[in-house]
Amino acid sequence: MSQDNTAIIEDRVAAAVEHVVIIGAGHAGAQVAASLRQDGYSGELVLVSDEADVPYHKPPLSKAFLKSPDAELQLLRAEDFYAQNNITRKHGRVARLDPASAQVAFEDGTSLAYGRLVLATGARPRLSTLPGAELQGVMPLRTQDDALNLRAHIAKVIDVVVLGGGFIGMEAAFTLAGLGKNVTIVEFAPRILNRAVSQIVSDHMSALAGAKGISVKVNTALKQIGGADGAVTHVETASGEVIKAQMVVLGIGVVPNMELAQEAGLTCGNGVLVDLQMRTSDPKIFAVGDVVAYDHWLAERVVRLESVQNATDQAKLAARALMGHDETYRNVPWFWSDQGDAKLQMAGLSFDADDFVTRGEKASGAFSVYHYRKGKLIAVDSVNKGADHMVARRLLAGGISPPPHVVADLTQDLKALI
Ligand code: FAD
Ligand code: NAP
Repeated sequence: MSQDNTAIIEDRVAAAVEHVVIIGAGHAGAQVAASLRQDGYSGELVLVSDEADVPYHKPPLSKAFLKSPDAELQLLRAEDFYAQNNITRKHGRVARLDPASAQVAFEDGTSLAYGRLVLATGARPRLSTLPGAELQGVMPLRTQDDALNLRAHIAKVIDVVVLGGGFIGMEAAFTLAGLGKNVTIVEFAPRILNRAVSQIVSDHMSALAGAKGISVKVNTALKQIGGADGAVTHVETASGEVIKAQMVVLGIGVVPNMELAQEAGLTCGNGVLVDLQMRTSDPKIFAVGDVVAYDHWLAERVVRLESVQNATDQAKLAARALMGHDETYRNVPWFWSDQGDAKLQMAGLSFDADDFVTRGEKASGAFSVYHYRKGKLIAVDSVNKGADHMVARRLLAGGISPPPHVVADLTQDLKALI
């Protein structure tokens, strides 16, 4: 970059950003703080969280952390990283935003002024409204506290119902079955992982779950959760079937934490709406991670994605935008999920797919499904096929769309197309 350009950007930054406040210290918020420092921001930087913990990785909470009572939390960055980088971690819950005075008000009555604000408030688990949902043993899984709560109960229970066959439900079910529990998954939809993967992968994972002794009930709604002495003992399905359970794990989706933005008058839909530089409808306020909805270049519609990749990449981009750069968000979305012996990896977004082709043999336990919309490759789901996933990310990034007959032919090297 020329000296002139550097000077222009530094001037823009000095004029725009003197004091950045980030609300939420999950994957997205912590990454905005780290990236701002990495990109040379030297002003005040406050990272606010209503969780007291040093920012940590959430994915292990349904996997390794749940498996062993001794497993420790994995921190996103070492505890002293924040002080070393002059990032003030503030513990507290923000109750209100006031864009007119550029201040945030905390529940304890204090307030904080900002030059620029970043909303990284994530999402919270959807709770059950069924009769009996208040019984002891009915548990969501989002935070370290939730996972500790679950872990404290695991040794005491034999039968577990997992409500919801999405990512949380499937990961928790495999983990709990691995610990010797009798696990039943109850899923509303006609198939598990309905939102995340193709029918073929759903069927494959359902069969793997069955092989581990997990009972999978699809097209099934619950009527109530039953209990005795304040603790859960069973659930009853809409058709009257009673399933024993001393623990009910809730994996029925999340709700974006966007009330602060809504009440402050920012434009929201199924999330806080941002442009491709993570700017909200207020020029001083940015938003990133699970809480945001945006017009996605690959899906060609407004989406709200819930993944570490989305949170991290948006955070890096928001930091760049705060520093006065003007790149736009155009990353390929990707996801992973560890379920028993299967590693699922998804690249792209398969909304509105109208055709697909499989590469590799399903029976081998390692294969990929390539999704097309109007003849164009839009997403690839891989099961135990890490190499296919990595190539898929590069194909999608480059807009390269090998035709289905080429994909299905294992003698064709898709990497060579990149
Ligand atoms: P969050 O991580 O939700 O962080 C938001 C933070 O803001 C929270 O600490 C919240 O308490 C805080 N906050 C909210 N409101 C306020 C307020 N008013 N004041 C102060 N603080 C506030 N993704 C994957 O890609 N792969 C996986 O394998 C995977 N596994 C997962 C397993 C589990 C058990 C869970 C729960 C999630 C998993 N995810 C996975 C999803 C991933 O963790 C999320 O997409 C990611 O955490 C989103 O980051 P975020 O920073 O946007 O939100
Ligand atoms: P999810 O992926 O949205 O799945 C929820 C599932 O529960 C959906 O299949 C939904 O069916 C079903 N459901 C909803 N209400 C139900 C009910 N009352 N009874 C039975 N089934 C019901 O959400 P999640 O699995 O709860 O995960 C929560 C969050 O954690 C998400 O943000 C997720 O991305 C994240 N997470 C990610 C990973 C990963 O990426 N590996 C792992 C764990 C968690 P419908 O689709 O029909 O509504």
